[in-house]
Amino acid sequence: EAKRNGRNRFEYFQPELDAAARRRRTMEMDLRTALHLGQLQLHYQPIIDQQHGQISGYEALMRWHHPLNGLVMPMDFIPLAEETGLIHEVGARALNLACQEAASWNTEQTVAVNLSPVQFRNPELVRIVALALQDSALEPRRLELEITESVLLDNSDGNIETLKRLKALGVNIALDDFGTGYSSLSYLRSFAFDRIKIDKSFINDMVDSPEAMSIVRAITGMSSSLQIKTTAEGVETEEQLRQLQAQGCSHFQGFLFGHPQPANERKRQ
Ligand code: C2E
Ligand code: MG
Ligand code: MG
Ligand code: MG
Repeated sequence: EAKRNGRNRFEYFQPELDAAARRRRTMEMDLRTALHLGQLQLHYQPIIDQQHGQISGYEALMRWHHPLNGLVMPMDFIPLAEETGLIHEVGARALNLACQEAASWNTEQTVAVNLSPVQFRNPELVRIVALALQDSALEPRRLELEITESVLLDNSDGNIETLKRLKALGVNIALDDFGTGYSSLSYLRSFAFDRIKIDKSFINDMVDSPEAMSIVRAITGMSSSLQIKTTAEGVETEEQLRQLQAQGCSHFQGFLFGHPQPANERKRQ
């Protein structure tokens, strides 16, 4: 009986697995095509400097303009790109586009590009970044690379070495989504980050949760004594802004200041 159930289960689920696998394969082929046809573009979200109340730079966020499905968000294709290895090409595209577009702005504003932990497995990563800078003639100090704590978790010695080589190019390095994942203060000793981005879940909860508020206060306090910039992500309300200002957070990013927009429509000062 158990055996028969087992076989039934197998027979029942197999077609679903096939369908999922087929969908994935189709999407992988679509993504390859997207790379060739230039359907992957960047939207830019402003980052505000609290001291001057001005836009100090933008985060570049990838969008897939799919001919049938419309605008596809990163959470719906970055994981697939990571699993299939396409992230190496997708990531290089993001770097090249961001550097070219930022170089054409007549400002000192910075551009931040997200790096996947998978890109750190590519021994050519530093060269790819150097080439993007060289081809676009963007000043290295105007480029910021955002990594997450997971980069420091796997192969941390090798990846810290890579971070140091990236930094030697003159670019800035930010620690994204701080406070989620496996945060460890030892990361902050092993590498001199230029910026910490406080995860938006804390900003979201802060106003109602004294615990979330205390954590935000601790992060901004620690960062300022280490002379690391802090960006609060996901700032949506005036109330959040007031509280973040009171705590000495140095930069803000969120819908209150602007949504991610295509390069030519991006919010300017
Ligand atoms: P992230 O790097 O933490 O980017 C911030 C995300 O928060 C963006 O989502 C942004 O649109 C969203 N956001 C900004 N302000 C607000 C706000 O006030 N409220 C809310 N609810 N959300 C806000 P998005 O564009 O969907 O990107 C999601 C994630 O996908 C990014 O998180 C990043 O991890 C990844 N991603 C995006 N572009 C790239 C890329 O070019 N390469 C790689 N490897 N990952 C990327
Ligand atoms: Mg980011
Ligand atoms: Mg983030
Ligand atoms: Mg995030």
